[in-house]
Amino acid sequence: MTIAREESFKTTCSYCGVGCGIVVKRDRRNNVTVEGDKDHPVNKGMLCSKGMNLHYAMNDHSDRLFYPEMRRSRNHPLERVTWDDALKRTAAVFSTIIQKHGPDAVGFYVSGQCLTEEYYVVNKLVKGFLGTNNIDTNSRLCMSSAVAGYTNMLGEDAVPVAYEDIELADCFLIAGANPAWCHPILFRRIEAHKQRNPDVKLIVVDPRKTQTCTGADLHLQPLPGTDIYLYNAIARVLIENGDVDYTFIHNHTEDYERYRASVVAVPLADAARICAVPEEDIRMAAAYIAAAKGFLTLWAMGLNQSVVGVHKNFALISLNLITGHIGKPGSGPFSLTGQPNAMGGREVGGLATMLAAHRSLQNPVHRREVADFWGVPGISEKPGYTATQMVEALERGELKAIWIMCTNPLVSLPDLRRVEKALGNARFVVVQDISRKSDTLSFADLVLPAAGHFEKEGTMTNSERRISHLSKVVEPPGEALADAEIVCRFARAMGFHGFEYTSPAAIYDEHARLTRGTNIDISGLSYERLKTEGTFQWPVKDISSSGTARLFTDHRFYTPSQKARFFPLDKPANQSEPLTADFPLILTTGRIRDQWHTMTKTGKVSRLRQHIDKPFLEIHPDDAAARDIQEGTVVTIRSARGDVRVRAKITDEIKQGVVFLPMHWGKATTDLARANNLTSTLVDPISKEPDFKFSAVEVTPY
Ligand code: SF4
Repeated sequence: MTIAREESFKTTCSYCGVGCGIVVKRDRRNNVTVEGDKDHPVNKGMLCSKGMNLHYAMNDHSDRLFYPEMRRSRNHPLERVTWDDALKRTAAVFSTIIQKHGPDAVGFYVSGQCLTEEYYVVNKLVKGFLGTNNIDTNSRLCMSSAVAGYTNMLGEDAVPVAYEDIELADCFLIAGANPAWCHPILFRRIEAHKQRNPDVKLIVVDPRKTQTCTGADLHLQPLPGTDIYLYNAIARVLIENGDVDYTFIHNHTEDYERYRASVVAVPLADAARICAVPEEDIRMAAAYIAAAKGFLTLWAMGLNQSVVGVHKNFALISLNLITGHIGKPGSGPFSLTGQPNAMGGREVGGLATMLAAHRSLQNPVHRREVADFWGVPGISEKPGYTATQMVEALERGELKAIWIMCTNPLVSLPDLRRVEKALGNARFVVVQDISRKSDTLSFADLVLPAAGHFEKEGTMTNSERRISHLSKVVEPPGEALADAEIVCRFARAMGFHGFEYTSPAAIYDEHARLTRGTNIDISGLSYERLKTEGTFQWPVKDISSSGTARLFTDHRFYTPSQKARFFPLDKPANQSEPLTADFPLILTTGRIRDQWHTMTKTGKVSRLRQHIDKPFLEIHPDDAAARDIQEGTVVTIRSARGDVRVRAKITDEIKQGVVFLPMHWGKATTDLARANNLTSTLVDPISKEPDFKFSAVEVTPY
């Protein structure tokens, strides 16, 4: 259908958690173009390569799913069905399974790319009405260690800082992140600030010399898994030199002495040897921090995706606490969100271990509040299966039906051969997606076509707690529906009342009411305000509030004592799978600049493929020479779980003993390059986040 005239809409980029504002122009043929929103406080008109090419992915419908498809049995092909048929039959399957095996026999696996309203209704459906907490999200794979870090140390999953702190900081410690490629607009702001202020110091911690290291004053290159020793060693130097804020520690923290004892127990020389970082570099990092008036720590999956990810968070956040660099301009611990709405998902409690509005599943008062609000008898106190626990439950036959929404786990979960077997074991698999190219479709009994990013209305929250409204720009193709609409139709097909929303705004209003009185209170923020006044950082407690840029400015934290908590870090030994003679190298996985997740969107854009169009293995020259590997040689990478075959890229930008594979490629793009064929199934015992940054492998010429 053509429309009468060109129109433009303000909305937000669909890729990373930076949350850049974009202006989308829709032409008379319903094609869209994208440009940066000059008025947006985050990006002021700038966009990175992914954002500026977003419209190519959105205009290309060649891979889109247009109508529901279902198979009669595993031996039958998928066949087109009506929405009514699809949802009635699925409701019958789910009801039968729940009647026979109980509510914990079904589960939902959702995504940090879902809009907040979508997250809210699916969480309400599962926890309130189906009677299980089996809803987890792919944010488990990237953010859950940071969530546990904040919650334990500050009392709640609350990012205390704002992007405006970048221009107020004079020392940055970026750990386990490559924002130059993965959060580019944020990094441009750091670069521009440093250019204007040459005395600003940039410390980067990464076993790889990434683009983020260009222009760094100090690059610390620890062996994977040894970060806790490194941050503790920096803390030790700060403590020994008296460069800590004892007034802050005394008045606003608890358990400092136990933390200090664990830190000083390891001599600096020992820590330096274990991390393989020179002692003088550790002293230099401490000196930069000691001299700073504003000190920001920034981190992402290099810390979080670890079997000790939560303790790595404790060790890094402790550097902010001992120096009192929190709750004041230019200072604080800042976890960089990978996905555009991972934060929004946490706000609605879209994790198996959380409740709505940052309430606790373990707290009976919180469970009663939410149950009463939703008008249901109760909420189960039993935590649901996390992402990798869902795989294990499928293997055991305990989880019989799984609904996968807006994510592609057959590329992104660890040990994919095992995931394939587990999904094959499921009685019923629903895949709700926009793209026919999603690898997970091959296991679907029911495929539901979802609306894409510009095809629905809703809200998202970026890394700095900033909520933005997303306009619907075009109609979805074929019979595709917005994810929230699909979930509500299914809930009604199940016979549940409470899903008769007339608009996304009605869902948002309900969510906002549920936050009233909590630390993430947005009851003063309506769709109307978002549309007319722009974006807001939570909390927004009443209609006179313009939002909250920085948390903890009064140094009263969200713990019962209102004090931030230190944790002793006395067991920092690496808990990852051991290296052996058969598997002597450490595999770490990550992202490249112009691709996003499993490439179902960015993989369609030829301009983005020009940067790097094929998977590769980064290997150090000494490791390559020892294996007779030349530049461009096709190599086989093996772990105890599987293998991968790609070309070698020999570079001294990676530490000896470590190899790197990008995580984007799946079976649908190239069968042999799926990095997660190799990755370890170990997870952090607290956050349940997988150990993607440490798998034992060997590399041989093919
Ligand atoms: Fe989009 Fe992130 Fe790039 Fe901004 S930095 S344009 S949010 S991908």
